[in-house]
Amino acid sequence: MEVLTPALKIDPPAWMSAPETAAVFAALQGDGAIPAVLCVGGCVRNALLGRAVEDLDLATVFPPDEVIRRLGAAGLRAVPTGIEHGTVTAVIGGKGFEITTLRRDVHADGRHAVVEFTTDWREDARRRDFSMNTLLAGLDGVIYDPLGCALADVRAGRVAFVGNPDCRIAEDRLRVLRFFRFYGAYGDGPPDPEALAACARAAGTLGNLSRERVTSEILKILSGDDPARTLGLMFECGVMADLLPEYRGDVLRRLCALQKTYDAFCLETRVLALVEMDQGRLTSLENKMIFSNKSKEFCRAILMAIEEFSCRKLNSPLNSLLYKHGNGVMEQVILLDAACNRASGAVAENLMFVRRTARPVFPVSGKDVMAAGLASGPQVGDVLRELESWWVDQDCAPDRAALLACIRERLEKAPCSGDSEAVKSPCAKSRASGGTEKERRT
Ligand code: ATP
Ligand code: MG
Repeated sequence: MEVLTPALKIDPPAWMSAPETAAVFAALQGDGAIPAVLCVGGCVRNALLGRAVEDLDLATVFPPDEVIRRLGAAGLRAVPTGIEHGTVTAVIGGKGFEITTLRRDVHADGRHAVVEFTTDWREDARRRDFSMNTLLAGLDGVIYDPLGCALADVRAGRVAFVGNPDCRIAEDRLRVLRFFRFYGAYGDGPPDPEALAACARAAGTLGNLSRERVTSEILKILSGDDPARTLGLMFECGVMADLLPEYRGDVLRRLCALQKTYDAFCLETRVLALVEMDQGRLTSLENKMIFSNKSKEFCRAILMAIEEFSCRKLNSPLNSLLYKHGNGVMEQVILLDAACNRASGAVAENLMFVRRTARPVFPVSGKDVMAAGLASGPQVGDVLRELESWWVDQDCAPDRAALLACIRERLEKAPCSGDSEAVKSPCAKSRASGGTEKERRT
């Protein structure tokens, strides 16, 4: 085994000194001078930069079955999440630690890799994508730089491939997307010209990457501070032609700026800003990428609401849209609409309204309709729906008393039939004799 020389010592951040991390390290402790387990990649890079750490990746000299055995002996739960690639996840108190055995790639065809396990830390570093992702750290805050260039690259904001960029991309084409993702997040100054040229040469070969891997990288790019800059660079390199040929950056740029100004980050809205979106384009995007059902629902709700929002009369109140779509959707609708229309007019005012106003609650129910004399049955629902639709047309202003009066009038006028006049205007009389609640108030 080769010797690892400490390159630097930092004050261990909270996640390094957490008891869960210590428990995993204790289970995988070796007996020699060379560490048997170390933190690797993103968590070390981010610790150095003082950035948040989302997931903890560990590397170990032990083969996966030994990792499982040792975790089990220490009473820790081990899940074989990617055993053929050497990855076992230790789960402690809901926290996951991805532990991967040191490895070298023996064969890679652009999508899949066949790996061999090793105990050589430097060999493992050489199969990683970018130099800044090869850093290692012990729990004492000691940082190791097995290739000798990673520390300088992290500090300089230089995203450079380990080895020859064309070869590394040919082994795994996803590295093209990863290059742009890491450049967007950590790059300082112009991108590494060799890396950029290799990415441009690989454009047009990304078509059959798995949807899961592509989605994960694109969503991470979109979550960044300035995704339009990153995607713009990808577009110039020809990389977007395979992924999203209709991409246009101006709306996304304006949306991200608005989300930042108003502290209203939302990934789904950023997805909707990628192309001139409608239900059909959203469906085709959903076929290219993988979104959770929750995200799909949120996107569809925004699309539906934005249409109503942009058709509404200028400066008309937003209560009915808030009632139909909810505060979270409306907040994003206001921002996306402003980004699409280059308008900043009433954004602050509308946002404040949506943030300060509780979602209206329809103040009557079927019980009220029955209490007014209609027997239980489908007509109760009919009356309620008529009333609700009228109430929404009045921007949810009539209060419970006004609605109860409407129910009584409605039933007096058409006690148990679907009288079409009454259906259209359940509160005609009430309006004639003094107007709606809102009109009376204003
Ligand atoms: P993040 O903070 O976004 O999680 P990360 O560096 O941890 O960044 P991951 O995608 O979690 O990125 O990958 C963990 C590590 O595994 C990377 O730092 C890198 O060393 C290695 N790695 C991941 N994907 C690849 C790949 N396609 N090719 C080579 N190495 C990779
Ligand atoms: Mg990670």
